[in-house]
Amino acid sequence: MSSEPLSIVARNLATIQGRIREAAQRVDRDPSAVQLIAVTKYAELSWVEELVQAGVSTLGESRPQQLVERTGLLSPSVEWHLIGHLQRNKVRLILPYVSLIHSIDSLKLLQRVNDIAGELELRPRLLLEVNVSKEPAKDGFSTASLQDAWHQIVKLNSVEVVGLMTMAPNFDVAEDARPTFAALRQLRNELASQASSLELPELSMGMSGDYEIAVEEGATLVRIGSALFEGCSATVRR
Ligand SMILES: *Cc1c(COP(=O)(O)O)cnc(C)c1O
Repeated sequence: MSSEPLSIVARNLATIQGRIREAAQRVDRDPSAVQLIAVTKYAELSWVEELVQAGVSTLGESRPQQLVERTGLLSPSVEWHLIGHLQRNKVRLILPYVSLIHSIDSLKLLQRVNDIAGELELRPRLLLEVNVSKEPAKDGFSTASLQDAWHQIVKLNSVEVVGLMTMAPNFDVAEDARPTFAALRQLRNELASQASSLELPELSMGMSGDYEIAVEEGATLVRIGSALFEGCSATVRR
């Protein structure tokens, strides 16, 4: 087995970290306020191992089963985030393994997580996924439904809601994602400013195609998959 693909991963990582730093500096943000979540859903285990060796400490998976499997295969120091849709019957499975769930996409799911977390005596950190761009096929709270449910959400006491997450539509031009990210930040500011509200410090937005724009608009967590593993598949796969 060649070590070639591994150095590709480390190089991609350095490039992305540099771009995150530059994007933050363009808008006078502290680059250390932006955390890279390496999305490993399509990555071979060996590439993920190299990423961890290169210093990535937080990995994101979109499928609960794969996340749980991989927690046993990688260093126990890795933190795991769930970024994909969570079915209600998988809540009990996933809670013990995750340090953050980005994809709480309905009040029903949130209440379910609160119930199970209470039973398990856990207090999971959560982000609420908002379908800011109003695409019909996309999961998530609408802006209006989140505002309506807010008084119920702030009362849930077995979960810690720490922010919001969104996905921008798939644009050809990254700049087109900017209004979506700005709208998520604005919604966060509105919700957080209400009386007896939650602070909501985290904004999870930005993927391989648009993370620099997201950082300029205030992202604290960027979820990056394909850009990290660019150039890997041709070398490793048959
Ligand atoms: C796959 C995925 C990502 C990463 O996407 P890339 O374009 O590969 O960087 C980010 N967020 C979510 C929710 C995803 O499912």
